[in-house]
Amino acid sequence: MELLGKYKNGNYTVAIYKDGTKIRATGADSFEPTFPESIDLKITNQCERGCAFCHENSTPDGKHSDLLNLPFFRSIPPYTELAIGGGNPLSHPDLERFLEKCQSRHIIANITVHEAEFFDNAALLWTWVSRGLIHGIGISHTSPKYTERLLRYLTEMYRFSTAVIHVINGVVSLDDLEKFADKNLNLLILGYKDIRRGQEYQSRYMDVVSMRQQTLKENLPRLAKDGHFRTICFDNLALEQLDVQRLVTSEEWESLYMGDDGKFTMYIDAVELEYAMSSTSMHRYPCENTVQAMFQRIRQESNTINNIERNCT
Ligand code: SF4
Repeated sequence: MELLGKYKNGNYTVAIYKDGTKIRATGADSFEPTFPESIDLKITNQCERGCAFCHENSTPDGKHSDLLNLPFFRSIPPYTELAIGGGNPLSHPDLERFLEKCQSRHIIANITVHEAEFFDNAALLWTWVSRGLIHGIGISHTSPKYTERLLRYLTEMYRFSTAVIHVINGVVSLDDLEKFADKNLNLLILGYKDIRRGQEYQSRYMDVVSMRQQTLKENLPRLAKDGHFRTICFDNLALEQLDVQRLVTSEEWESLYMGDDGKFTMYIDAVELEYAMSSTSMHRYPCENTVQAMFQRIRQESNTINNIERNCT
């Protein structure tokens, strides 16, 4: 495995490898970070796609962030990972200059784009990957009408080794998902977010969403265990919705689970200049001048929630 970077964070060290593997090491009983290992960064609320389940309520006339003047940017430590999203992040006019700024500070930039945007911009994304401006590319797969084309792009035209297909539990059907199997692809399953348009979509298509979630849950052991994908990852919401913990031993869970929201990660809405534990948190704070200060608040919130949950069980 080729090392991308190694750094100290609080009482432990983190090594990140080019294939996305991350290893934490400490002599202490627990990992206590002083800054987030990864920031989910929303850079725009503009998007032409109009997905009916969009939990960000993104629209064609959505606002962009002032990306080159983020008040906390200079405090982001080297090798912090940014998960850049939107809206459609490719619609932001300052994105390339922002990526160059990240690169000059050794910040690892990853980006998530809708599959239709990926088709239209694959050559540009390829150039950015070759220049080292972006590391990972997440491609949101939202409709079976794009399946064949996405497969062609990923298996014949652009073999981005760090590309990951993103699907949503409750939106993707099992039939559609199985078309991506056995092609050495990376898959990320995201939990269904029932907020904003996601809430309207779920109430309107409740039967379909529930049936797809149930089918995926039942078939997940087969999909995961038979090695149909190079990797399968989950966000914390999907881990919960699909009860992924039942599929691994406690030792495997201990070594593979990357931590609750807010323990090593945080969310920043650069458009509204607000931060929160995750993109689904309704409890948001105005941005401060350093990520360290913002993260300390997120950690306190995360610890408070854990304590309440512990006391309730
Ligand atoms: S879900 Fe993504 S692609 Fe769809 S409207 Fe929202 S931001 Fe755009």
